[in-house]
Amino acid sequence: MNSNEIEIHKELKKYFGFSQFKGLQEQVITSILGQTNTFVIMPTGGGKSLCYQLPALIQEGTAIVVSPLIALMKNQVDAIRSLSSENGIAHVLNSSLTKTEIAQVKKDITSGLTKLLYVAPESLTKEEYVAFLQSVPISFVAIDEAHCISEWGHDFRPEYRNLKNIIKQLGQVPIIGLTATATPKVQEDILKNLDMSDANTFKASFNRPNLYYEVRTKTKNIESDIIRFIKQHKGKSGIIYCLSRKKVESIAEVLQVNGISAVPYHAGLDAKTRAKHQDMFLMEDVDVVVATIAFGMGIDKPDVRFVIHHDIPKSLESYYQETGRAGRDGGEGHCLAYYSYKDVEKLEKFMSGKPVAEQEIGFALLQEVVAYAETSMSRRKFLLHYFGEEFDGETGEGADMDDNVRNPKSKVEAKDQAVK
Ligand code: ADP
Ligand code: MG
Repeated sequence: MNSNEIEIHKELKKYFGFSQFKGLQEQVITSILGQTNTFVIMPTGGGKSLCYQLPALIQEGTAIVVSPLIALMKNQVDAIRSLSSENGIAHVLNSSLTKTEIAQVKKDITSGLTKLLYVAPESLTKEEYVAFLQSVPISFVAIDEAHCISEWGHDFRPEYRNLKNIIKQLGQVPIIGLTATATPKVQEDILKNLDMSDANTFKASFNRPNLYYEVRTKTKNIESDIIRFIKQHKGKSGIIYCLSRKKVESIAEVLQVNGISAVPYHAGLDAKTRAKHQDMFLMEDVDVVVATIAFGMGIDKPDVRFVIHHDIPKSLESYYQETGRAGRDGGEGHCLAYYSYKDVEKLEKFMSGKPVAEQEIGFALLQEVVAYAETSMSRRKFLLHYFGEEFDGETGEGADMDDNVRNPKSKVEAKDQAVK
């Protein structure tokens, strides 16, 4: 170890209490400390926050962190504050602050106390903030959830498109982009929009060796099939994703009637019920949550043992994120998706009301899901290939963890099933 490495290990211990970096963190941090544009692609839970928090804490000036969700920013600021005796070490700048609060934030930044300033992209476009930030030393700008910049990502935010212009006005500051979206298309968009083709890029593997992938043909017996599956996983925690709120309600009811402890979760329920059902799941008062995709953001239950897709997801990206909630603890995680071409047509019809450009992207993403469902090759290889990662189907970790590898079927058989 050279003196620099010893230094950042010491700082890691001092601020976060960890004695080791996780994955590519150390390389990323070294790159950021070298004042270079840096691009970080790591799965959810990979430890991206620390990649910019640590360099921010040990460098001169304030690091600006752009993040799309106010709730996420608040959590992070609270976490950073708990590492220090100074409240002013991290701040959020957003539209909900009073004049007095804004004055305090500015004072802490000017005095050099604030190391991390979290902002929503729309706040950063405000002229008065930009003018202020031009007048203080900025260490770097980190753009978290950078996939929001791309229409090919799962959470496109038009405000993210203006970021580069604003950052330019701040002078020569390094940019750090971070995302858990691994598709090459989204990555290209990010680098292009942030004008940082020169960035040092760090990409972690997206392979989840402990997840078992399975696709079953959706028939009219799907409900009894799901019930049988859950009874085989008695007492285990699981999530069932459905496309519509109505389906969520009806499946939750069918499960309850069949003696399975399950609750529904979707955006149509009031906030109190949603919070209650989420807590019940986290506290293991119920085994199963039947949910729309509204469920899961920020859910960190380590021992989810299965994720079932009653309906196919709208992209492989979403599928990866949703199934990724299984087996966080490294233990078993069974990912079962039901597939019928009728559902694909339903989704296509659903999309036909949208603007043409959006439709085209939507169809293209959906075709990849269809290809995944119908493939007879290793599903893990297919998924990782979609994310631009080559997987060795012979020796790769988790190589035998899917239905196609365990029970190879002939191509004709696979086609037949899909038609049915
Ligand atoms: P991401 O943003 O990539 O989804 P987070 O930054 O939220 O991931 O980190 C996920 C978890 O990993 C957090 O609980 C964090 O405390 C933990 N973590 C990060 N770095 C380390 C480390 N070096 N050692 C141990 N745990 C870590
Ligand atoms: Mg994160």
